[in-house]
Amino acid sequence: MQIFSPTQHFSTTWLPSFSVKRDDLIDPFISGNKWRKLKYLLKVAQNQKKNHLVTFGGAYSNHLLATAAASARFNLKATAFVRGENVQNEMLLLCKLYGMTLIFTDRDSYKNKIDLFNTHFGDDEQCFFIDEGGASYEATVGCAEIIDELDQPFDHIFCAAGTGTTAAGLLKGINKNQLNTTLNVVPVLKGGSFIETEIAKYENDLANLVLHTNYHFGGYAKTTPELISFIKTFTSETGMLIDPVYTAKMFYAIKDLVERGQIKTDSKILALHTGGLFGILGMKDKFNSSF
Ligand SMILES: *Cc1c(COP(=O)(O)O)cnc(C)c1O
Repeated sequence: MQIFSPTQHFSTTWLPSFSVKRDDLIDPFISGNKWRKLKYLLKVAQNQKKNHLVTFGGAYSNHLLATAAASARFNLKATAFVRGENVQNEMLLLCKLYGMTLIFTDRDSYKNKIDLFNTHFGDDEQCFFIDEGGASYEATVGCAEIIDELDQPFDHIFCAAGTGTTAAGLLKGINKNQLNTTLNVVPVLKGGSFIETEIAKYENDLANLVLHTNYHFGGYAKTTPELISFIKTFTSETGMLIDPVYTAKMFYAIKDLVERGQIKTDSKILALHTGGLFGILGMKDKFNSSF
């Protein structure tokens, strides 16, 4: 698949100049970091002659949609274990359109993914296990390539983190290229310091890593009127959509750190747009009632 992810320049009232690596433009559905994470997993599946991807996610998972779309594109079958009771939403509708089979799974059984896989597909040689969110060593290799694509040095790179796999890949890329760049990671979950342990599973040298754990806005997929208002201003100011679950929390963190003087406005800043714009649909009532 041809990759289109330009680095674009933006300016806002609170930061005169910053760059954004537009991984959201790679594909509307195989979005952003989810393509980076799937790329080498798909190669492994192909090498092992597996033609049926089996994966896991919540009812608004960007990873499920990416896996569904990629499977259809590359002629593979796809099945997803979806956490929780049977629901319908825009995201799952698209997954079904792409031909993915959905198996709704109660929260208790969902906890043991290997068990679920083995029970349903253990005897099926065609099936290939992909962890929730695509988390894997292969995913970090794909994400490290983001750094290889940059054509100028940055003082700071920012990314949002859910599992920390993308961040681990970026850090790998920074260290491998011996860059003098700080990787600023914004966990979108409450208690996000666990992300450091996750990153350490894939990369030993954490010297260039800084976590900003205070920008979760109440926790995963939680939001506040302040964040919604930030998204509206940011989008109309820059012409770039951001999602409330991940990228809005990252851009808000950049703004806050700049305003607190912790990031200098004349430093070279790159934000990674990891895509996931369908996350907006998961909160459409909150957006609608804010206008
Ligand atoms: C999944 C996702 C992330 C988090 O990536 P991790 O590798 O799990 O940390 C960030 N941004 C968007 C838009 C995502 O969909």
